[in-house]
Amino acid sequence: MVDGGAGARPPYSGGGWSVTRRRPAHLPTRPTWRCRACGIAWPCSVAKLNLLAEYREDRAALLDYLTTLRDEAVAQLSAELPDGVPRADLTERFTGWASAR
Ligand SMILES: [Zn+2]
Repeated sequence: MVDGGAGARPPYSGGGWSVTRRRPAHLPTRPTWRCRACGIAWPCSVAKLNLLAEYREDRAALLDYLTTLRDEAVAQLSAELPDGVPRADLTERFTGWASAR
């Protein structure tokens, strides 16, 4: 079931699943979409592990959530970069790792 994300779980930007308290959580910064903790393109490996743990009971919800973030990233990165960002690249980056298996 896909509800478009509007009624889905709230974004976790509040730090709900933050594992470490002293370090910044592995959350995306906007509009650059880099990990707040690692500085690399989000989701980093830690963020992926956290998400997999958070959504281990509901992979469909995880993919729905990641797709919502993907759409947000496409819009923001396209505005940031003169040449934009290929949507397919962001799809692989945001959801490719979660849809496997
Ligand atoms: Zn990170």
